[in-house]
Amino acid sequence: MTDDIGGYGSDHRRLRRMWAQRIRNNWMPPCSRCGYPVLPGQAWDLDHTDDRTGYLGPAHAHCNRSAGAYKKIRQHQHRQAHSEHRSNPTTQDWA
Ligand SMILES: [Zn+2]
Repeated sequence: MTDDIGGYGSDHRRLRRMWAQRIRNNWMPPCSRCGYPVLPGQAWDLDHTDDRTGYLGPAHAHCNRSAGAYKKIRQHQHRQAHSEHRSNPTTQDWA
């Protein structure tokens, strides 16, 4: 068995470079983990689906590397948002 899934080959590198360019140009794509924008200058990773068959897009490095914890944080924030402010202009659905 070779442990060579994806291999982080040219595909990953090309996508990462594409996103790096967009982030540098202030695209500020939402982090695939926490939903907050990835800002120019922030550390980020190219996040992939849990089964490693595809890419989700950029995620903050600290979000991606603590993927086990993010769900709890998110649920917590969600509950707060509902109990305190029902409408939050920063978390609209981006259709
Ligand atoms: Zn994040």
